[in-house]
Formats: sequence, C-alpha cells, structure tokens
Amino acid sequence: MSTTTFHCAYALLEDGWARDCRITVNGEGLIAAIDTDASTAGATTLPGPVIPGMVNVHSHIHQRLIAGLTGYRAAGADSFWTWREQMYRAVGQLAPDELKTLASYAFMELIEGGYTVTGEFHYPHRLGGAEPMQTAASLLEAADAAGMALTLLPVWYRYAGFGRQAPAERQRPFVMALDELAGLVGDLVDDVAGSIHRVGVAPHSLRAVEVSDLPELLSVIDSGPVHLHISEQPAEVDECRKYCGRTPIELLTEHVDLDRRWCLIHATHASDEEIRVMAQSDAVVGLCPTTEADLGDGLFPAREFVDQGGRFAIGSDSNLVTDAATELRLLDWGQRLQLNRRNVLCDEGEHLGRRLWRDAAGAGADALNQPVGTLAVGRRADWVVLDAAHPLLAGLDADHQLDTLVLAGARDLVDQVWIAGRKQVDGGRHPGRAALAPEVARLRRRLLQAA
Ligand SMILES: [Zn+2]
Repeated sequence: MSTTTFHCAYALLEDGWARDCRITVNGEGLIAAIDTDASTAGATTLPGPVIPGMVNVHSHIHQRLIAGLTGYRAAGADSFWTWREQMYRAVGQLAPDELKTLASYAFMELIEGGYTVTGEFHYPHRLGGAEPMQTAASLLEAADAAGMALTLLPVWYRYAGFGRQAPAERQRPFVMALDELAGLVGDLVDDVAGSIHRVGVAPHSLRAVEVSDLPELLSVIDSGPVHLHISEQPAEVDECRKYCGRTPIELLTEHVDLDRRWCLIHATHASDEEIRVMAQSDAVVGLCPTTEADLGDGLFPAREFVDQGGRFAIGSDSNLVTDAATELRLLDWGQRLQLNRRNVLCDEGEHLGRRLWRDAAGAGADALNQPVGTLAVGRRADWVVLDAAHPLLAGLDADHQLDTLVLAGARDLVDQVWIAGRKQVDGGRHPGRAALAPEVARLRRRLLQAA
C-alpha cells in the first residue's frame, strides 16, 4: 500500500484552522497522519484552503433531468403536487442505461459543487421494467464513473396515501414488498463491501409506508442508516391528522425510537414540541433549502432546533441546484427573512461559513454512515480545495475565504475536489463530464418533445 503526502497552507481540522499542514493518506484513501507547522518537502501542494468534503444527505439523482424545466405556469396554482406529476412523467421515460448516464453526469456536477458523498434516496426500482438490482447497480456504476462515494438508500414504497391507499399506476415501479426489499439491501451490502459505498434503507414517507410496519422493517434490516421524508407539505400534515388525529412526527415517534440510524428529511412543518423531540433525539434532520424553496414547502425553524441541541445536514434533493455553498447560503437566508436578523445559524464570535460547513458535514457523515465530515486521522481523504487565486479570495485569511464561498460564491470558487485521496475535480472541472454532455442534452430535449 502506497502512501501519499499533501501539504496546504490552511486546513480546517476538528478544532479549527491549522497552518502549514502535512496530510498523509494511506493506500486505502484514509488519512493516516496530520502534522501542523510542517514542511512542504516531498509533498503534493494543495494550492488553497482545504475543507472537508460536503455530505449530501438527500438526493433523487434522476430528478436532475427536469432541473429548470418546471418553470412554466399552466392553468391554476402550481404546487409540490403538480410538480410531482411532471417529475413522474419524466422518470417514466428513462431506461436504466439512460439513468446511468444522467446520474454519472449529475454526480460529477455535485462533486464540482463540493460534495464528496451522496445519500441516494432511490425509489424508481423498476425503471423501464428493469429488475431493482439492475437500477441500483446503474447508480453504483454511475457513482464509480464520477468518483462519488454513495450511501445507497433503497426506498420502501407501498401506498399512495395514509390508510394503505393503493398505489397509482405511475407509482407501481416504486412498490416493493418487505422481503424483496430486504433481499435487495442484503445483496447491495455484499456488493459494496470493501468500497467507499454504504447501504441503508428509506421508508419513503408515512404516506407511502404504514407506520405500524416500521418496527418490522427495522428488525429485518437491522443496521445502516434509515431515512424518511416527513412533514414536507402542509397537505401531508393535514391528511395525517384526518387519518389518525396526529401529525406525522407525532405518529412516527409513537412507533419508533429516533436513534442514531435515523435521518428525517425536511421536517419542515414541525411544532415547537416536535422541534424539541427531534432536537433531543439522536436523529439528524436533513434540510434541502433550494428544493424546499422551489417546491414552496415552507421554512424549517432551524435556529430553534439548533438551540435545543438539534443536528442538521443538507441535501441537494431534486438536484435543481448542485452546489453545497448555495444550499448553506439559502439555509441561513431563509432564517434571516423570517427573523429579520443576519448570520442566524452561527453564534457570537463565529464565522458563518466555517460553522455551517462544519456542522452540516459532520452531521451528514453520521447520517450516511460514512467516515468523513471532518479532516482527522482515520477519516477518508475527502476534501475540497478553494481557489485561492480567485480575485474574491486571493490574499485573504481562510475564514474570509470560506465565508466568501458560502455567502457569495458557488462552484466558481472551488478549485479541486478529492475523494478517498484521488483528485476528481481540477480547476473546478470534472474531466469526465464533457463526454456525457451530448446524451444528457438529448434526454432533456426528448422530455420536452414528448410533453
Ligand atoms: Zn426527497
């Protein structure tokens, strides 16, 4: 096993910025040593501040296909539910090999945007009549083509709504019985052993899965992350109340213990008491600010949640936007618009960029069961190098560079991205993306021609 040594002027470690760091990476792509105030001798120079790779806890990669294509307002009011119909139509056209191309391209875009790990909440199991293992394998192959580390979260989807409503025709390719799902998860766990990928499971939502079936799911699939969409839309909360007299979060916590396996996606419409319960649990809340804004979901009370000890991560969800800085910026901006304050999600004496990046990456790593989130011995060598030569960054201290990325920049301020000790993005570009571009363009044009 060969080791590689890197040197950088600034690295964001667990306890803050360190100067003149030597980072040694072993042949397995893990950090073997970090020395500070160290020499550059024999090391590969990383030319800007080095920060941990961002963790993307929630993605539906196929939805990149319709990014930007749902901006035409037809008759009546557009909503999450009208958007969902457009998305179902788009996914219905994809074959597994097309999914692989699209996903490879989109994973490359996400890496350029500073993400090194993605939690893929995967529900189109029978795309174009394929077997579930085939579509899952397409995603793993796409991640390998891009160099992205994946935590694949096969979705358990059974019903169209509360009270075991039969799925609609267009939802049938998502439906799976528990034994089939458990078989798929078991096969995937064997498949990814020894790689940078992990496997969990995702009961889709309390609309699509009956809550009383969750304890059985957790006993059959008894390890790995568990992700669930919850309380994203007011209509979902209202339907749940009509069905059982309780909100989705109340219903969930009556049936399961929110331990470290859990990641609650969105949780947008949470009462004060629900915020307290989630914050005091071991679960992570996965916030997806650009998608939540695009779909008109609402605003999660993030400051209240953090004040009570809650941990949040971020996700690109519909992949309308594929850079981490924009998600973090909108997360704080939403709170600012609501509270008429600035720099809401950091404390006195802190820089917002560092606080948001560190918190989201750390909680995200736990939520996806990946050895990342911070630069430390034993963690994987996943990191982002800022473009210190960019006029907005040149000559600044590391905190002002990271603040500029989070508040004013995006992928244009990212120079390099490394995953498991391998450089996947250089000069802001993933070298594999250009070759896939014509096919991605064709798939998007086909979508509009079929409309
Ligand atoms: Zn989602």
